[in-house]
Amino acid sequence: MTAKFSFDLLATDGKARRGVIHTTRGDIRTPAFMPVGTAATVKAMMPESVAATGADILLGNTYHLMLRPTAERIDRLGGLHKFMNWDKPILTDSGGFQVMSLSALRKMTEDGVTFKSHIDGSMHTLTPERSMEIQKLLGSDIVMCFDECTPFPAEEKVAHESMRMSMRWAKRSREAFGDRPGHALFGIQQGSVFRDQRQESAEKLAGIGFDGYAVGGLAVGEGQDMMFDVLDYAPDMLPTDRPRYLMGVGKPDDIVGAVKRGIDMMDCVLPSRSGRTGQVFTRHGVVNIKNARHQDDPRPLDENCTCPACRNYSRAYLHHVFRAQEMISGMLLTWHNLHYYQELMQGMRDAIEVGRFAAFEAEFHAQRAQGDIDPL
Ligand SMILES: [Zn+2]
Repeated sequence: MTAKFSFDLLATDGKARRGVIHTTRGDIRTPAFMPVGTAATVKAMMPESVAATGADILLGNTYHLMLRPTAERIDRLGGLHKFMNWDKPILTDSGGFQVMSLSALRKMTEDGVTFKSHIDGSMHTLTPERSMEIQKLLGSDIVMCFDECTPFPAEEKVAHESMRMSMRWAKRSREAFGDRPGHALFGIQQGSVFRDQRQESAEKLAGIGFDGYAVGGLAVGEGQDMMFDVLDYAPDMLPTDRPRYLMGVGKPDDIVGAVKRGIDMMDCVLPSRSGRTGQVFTRHGVVNIKNARHQDDPRPLDENCTCPACRNYSRAYLHHVFRAQEMISGMLLTWHNLHYYQELMQGMRDAIEVGRFAAFEAEFHAQRAQGDIDPL
């Protein structure tokens, strides 16, 4: 047990970083991928199965949990870890991003955002102070600042105003969070695709002082090229002795490219959501299990994968249960996808430790370029 949140940088290879985040609920090996447990569950997975894939930490969504079952109820029931039976670390987002993407936005002011629930139409207000309160009620280990995720594309002036408001909200978040040993607060860099704004944002955040720093406002439709352009400089602006978190990313090649550019943590719904729609991530790229080519195929999805879906079931079976809309389909494919993502992270961690990240990256792209195994 560590009494305090801390980050150790163990090795670097180019800009890629291998580290470990110590929390009171266990260590997080970085680079880390965080599965998304939106409504206090990673859909189609038991928590022990999520842990078995190699995940050290989960992400929970403030927006969803504050509306249902409410943060106050989760607090009364002993906190989010107990409620969902996950005793490892949990990071919660601030709710800001999903207010923008899911609710009928009513009003944004300097104070915060008032919005209508997408579930029952009830009215709610999120401010930096309320977001800190909710994340504290949930018992989150890593709390995110309340910010405005600047939409893309944004004019330079609009992005600048948005970033500056987020920095004022970051200061309010820091003050409202207070001193909570064992719990961490991360600041979020904004500034869209404008380098000078990213710099200004990084300086303001460092001036306030946070336990970790996120690169926000990416993966919002700008595309991989533009995202990598920003990642070529934005993480370098953040303190080197704190974890760096890229929010909402991404596809496997986004993740490898982000780690290459100095990112330590990521989260995305993609592996779990895709598992429910029949899209499978493998070393050889994406496989669509609903495709008729699999219906007589007795081979596993990936003969080298050790997940239950690959060890115990054929492509023909996975194709059948997907077509028949059986629940085990989402369960097995989600397990495989999360297992694949965690293996990818382990592969990168191992490669950075021995200084062969470039070779790992080349092999990653070469295997994907081969494509799926030939049909029978
Ligand atoms: Zn598998």
